[in-house]
Amino acid sequence: MSNSNTGVSVISEEVCQKVMGRKEAFVAVENVFAAMAKKTAYNFPVIREAIGHADALYGFKSGFDRDGMVLGLKSGGYWPGNIEKGLTNHQSTVILFDPETGKLKSLVGGNYLTAVRTAASSAVSIAHLARKDSKVLGIVGAGHQSTFQLRAAVEQRNFEKIVGWNIHPEKMSNLTAVCQELGIPFESLTREELCAQSDVIITITSAFEPLLDKAWVKPGTHIACMGTDTKGKQEVDANLLVGATVFTDELAQSITIGEAQHAIGKGLIKESDITPIGEVINGSKLGRTNDEEITLFDGTGVGLQDLAVASAAASLAEAQGEATYFTL
Ligand code: NAD
Repeated sequence: MSNSNTGVSVISEEVCQKVMGRKEAFVAVENVFAAMAKKTAYNFPVIREAIGHADALYGFKSGFDRDGMVLGLKSGGYWPGNIEKGLTNHQSTVILFDPETGKLKSLVGGNYLTAVRTAASSAVSIAHLARKDSKVLGIVGAGHQSTFQLRAAVEQRNFEKIVGWNIHPEKMSNLTAVCQELGIPFESLTREELCAQSDVIITITSAFEPLLDKAWVKPGTHIACMGTDTKGKQEVDANLLVGATVFTDELAQSITIGEAQHAIGKGLIKESDITPIGEVINGSKLGRTNDEEITLFDGTGVGLQDLAVASAAASLAEAQGEATYFTL
């Protein structure tokens, strides 16, 4: 290993945290969503397997972004027993290749970046779809991702209050601590009260049943459903997608592993009712059209998001002398 700028760069988790800010992640994710909508970037089929050991789910997410010239994969998954070992349950590493030659380019820690890119995704949806006068942000879920979601969301609108709900109340301290630090009032509410007060709602739980009822959500709300990334998971009433204008990061994932899988499966909505957010970013489709509309973003999490933030982190680390290098 060396610090000289040759060979394969290694960007550790620690360096990712040092160099990768929320603004850089937002730009990387917004750009790649736009490229996906233009079909200049595409995700390859996802591999995800229960390996029959340590209760782990392991997989690969891969893709190529011709605009950003980013090729690679994120590999990793979910090891539920890690928390007892003092490790994060989600483990991942991003591997980047030179699209001109196929040569290995960078190894980038993916744990911190996963949280940052997921938060950037809902932040992009808020930036493009939430009412400009949104004042109250509701967060449903208070686990690892929730504080990243909160920090990224408050940068998009002038929120005056945060409201939260979590099935395990002892976890709410994760959200209250960040609100205290940000100097924004926080209130813990029931799910129904949370919907009544919120202009923007982020759901970021591991739920397998609807947590939010259609009748509770007020007109003009923007909802970013971020927790549902697997077949069977669900966070909101499938009927909510009927009345709402639905957007997603990637259509293929939205209808199979995203929040829309249930409304699609029940025949409540059609694939053509869902708009990739990249088309809104590119200006080829409308986003929100009035203040009464409920907009719903189905953020399923695509490999290209991981590659985009990992590539940005590698460039920043290399430019700032924070990368180490090795040759194969
Ligand atoms: P975590 O385990 O740290 O937190 C999970 C949260 O869900 C906790 O607040 C927990 O109390 C709550 N919860 C668990 N079971 C529940 C239930 N049955 N009903 C309601 N709430 C329940 O996980 P995390 O890292 O914060 O991730 C949250 C979710 O986001 C997971 O489902 C994860 O797979 C998903 N995720 C999605 C993306 C994406 O790109 N869309 C990226 C990363 C994680």
